[in-house]
Amino acid sequence: MKERVLASKRFPLLAFFPVALLGCLPSNAQTNGYELNDSHFHLTNYVQEGTKIRDFLNIMGDKVGRVALFGIPLQQQWSYRVDGDNAPTYYLNTDAPLYYYSFTDAWIAMAYKSLPKEQQTRFDPMITGFNPTDMYAADHIRRVLQTFPGVFTGIGEFSIHKEFVSAKISGEVASLQDPALDRVFDFAGEVGLVSILHNDLDVPFSKEGSPPAYLDQIKALFRRHSNATIIWAHTGMGRIVRPVENHAATVEEILRDPALNHVYFDISWDEVAKYIVSTPEATRITADLINRFPDRFLFGSDEVAPTTQEKYLKVFYQYGPLWDLLSKDAVQKVRKGNYERIFDQARLKVRDWEKTHVSGAGGEGSKPDVR
Ligand SMILES: [Zn+2]
Repeated sequence: MKERVLASKRFPLLAFFPVALLGCLPSNAQTNGYELNDSHFHLTNYVQEGTKIRDFLNIMGDKVGRVALFGIPLQQQWSYRVDGDNAPTYYLNTDAPLYYYSFTDAWIAMAYKSLPKEQQTRFDPMITGFNPTDMYAADHIRRVLQTFPGVFTGIGEFSIHKEFVSAKISGEVASLQDPALDRVFDFAGEVGLVSILHNDLDVPFSKEGSPPAYLDQIKALFRRHSNATIIWAHTGMGRIVRPVENHAATVEEILRDPALNHVYFDISWDEVAKYIVSTPEATRITADLINRFPDRFLFGSDEVAPTTQEKYLKVFYQYGPLWDLLSKDAVQKVRKGNYERIFDQARLKVRDWEKTHVSGAGGEGSKPDVR
């Protein structure tokens, strides 16, 4: 009721046609006045600490309209035996292992729920706290949706192969060929959750001229899940996984394949921007590809718990030379339009799934269907 009164104030016509018009109302934040949306953002770091969501809203300011919001599914263990008083805060600080930290999903959900409705619409919270080698991973995702209906839009960023990270995680190493991962994507497809996957295209320091280690496996995975919407983070590049020879050609092959038209790419991470703007030639090749497939790329910052707007938007400004070479249409889509299309569609589908799978979903004071 409270919502109806507020809506009537903002849209006086609603007082006359409340029910008929509700369906036509923009339920998603309009981002016309902003410069960009961020499809890849970590509110917390590898030791689960980060920026308060209200402070982050100030950092977004009038520049960033909407943000795909997640923590990090991995916790860096502080092993006193290994590191003594030197508490590690990053996976490269120590040899101690990482482990899956499911509580991150509750943390993100509660941060989101602490905001008033009009600020919530600027975020698309994502579920990350599952172990992708576990056949029960999909059940965790379902349980999070049931516990926090009305909150999440997708899953990820989660990682399968990532340079020094994969081998450091306690338990079995993740694989693109694991049936547990198929269950995750089956479920994401069924619900309509958008998925952000980090998977290095190649192993670190691969032999010059050898084919990228994971290209065939990842294409096969994408093919098996044609009804899932998948964003391949960083276009498969990584910290020390240099763009394989002809990286743009590899990406273009995926873009041209009609069986893979559910696959998108984000250009997030300063490590990726570094390669793309490294030479005028690299920037031109990338711009040329994006201009020909403008619907398939999204900007993302991949910043982790930033403390100022300057730090937060570093990658956005780093891409200056790329923005200069993109068509007007491509700039708009990569910075804002593709985010809105993909995440709005996912929001609608997930809310719809919740209506039939979570008792009382969406209503005031709804209770999760805990079985
Ligand atoms: Zn990543």
